[in-house]
Amino acid sequence: MSLNENQKQRYLRNIILPEIGESGQKKLLSARVLIIGAGGLGSPLLFYLAAAGVGNIGVIDDDVVELSNLQRQVIHNVKNLGEKKVVSAKEKILALNPEINLEIFAVRANRETLRKICANYDFILDATDNFPTRFIINEISHEQKKPLIFAAVKGFLGQVSVFKSYEKNNPCYACFNPNIVDENFSLPLSEKGILGSVAGTIGALQATTTIKEILGIGEDLIGKILIFDFLKNEFRKVKLQKNSACKICSN
Ligand SMILES: [Zn+2]
Repeated sequence: MSLNENQKQRYLRNIILPEIGESGQKKLLSARVLIIGAGGLGSPLLFYLAAAGVGNIGVIDDDVVELSNLQRQVIHNVKNLGEKKVVSAKEKILALNPEINLEIFAVRANRETLRKICANYDFILDATDNFPTRFIINEISHEQKKPLIFAAVKGFLGQVSVFKSYEKNNPCYACFNPNIVDENFSLPLSEKGILGSVAGTIGALQATTTIKEILGIGEDLIGKILIFDFLKNEFRKVKLQKNSACKICSN
C-alpha cells in the first residue's frame, strides 16, 4: 500500500528525511504504540506521535483533569476540568490528526488491565508518575517481549531509556532499581514538584526515542540511560548493567 496524496502532504517533512522516506512513514502509520499516562509526559508524547503519523495509539489513564494539572499537562485545558483525561486527550488528538486510530482506556493501570491491553500493542511507553506502576510495566514488557520506552521526571531532572530485557544481556528497569516498593507506595506531595517544561522536554525526547525505535534508525538507547539535570545544565548518557540477581529478568 502506498501513501495517498493527503498523507504525502501531511508527512512531507518526515518523508524528505533520508532516514524516514515513504517506507519509514508507512512503518510509522502501521505502528502500534501504548502510552500509559495522559499527563505531563503523555501530553507531548500524544501530540508528537500523532502529528508524526504513528497510526495506532492506545492511551491508559483513569484520572480526571484537575486545575493543578494544567501547569504541565498541556493537552488539557480549562474546558476539560472534571473530564476523564483520556476523553480530553482524544478530542485534541483527533483535531490534530483524524487519521490516527486512537483507543482510550479509562482504567487504572494495574497488572491485570495492563497485561490485557499491552497484548494488543508493539511498543509500551511508560509515562506514569509512580514507582509501583513502573515496576508492573517493566514486568509486563519483559514477559510479553515488548520494547519499553521509559521516561521519568522529577523537579528539574529527567531520564529516558529503552528496555529490551527479553533479549540477552540487556538490563530491565528493576535491574538498577531493585527495591521494588509496595503497590500502595506514593511519594508525599512535597516531593512531587515538577516544572512543566521539564516534563515537556523529556516527553518530547521520549517521542523521538519511540519514533527511532519504530524505524530502527540511529543509535539506540538499550542498556543506556539519558540523564538530564536542567538546573545544572548537565546531560549525561550512562551505561546500565544487567543485574544477574534481578527478580524480573535474570533466570
Ligand atoms: Zn532486570
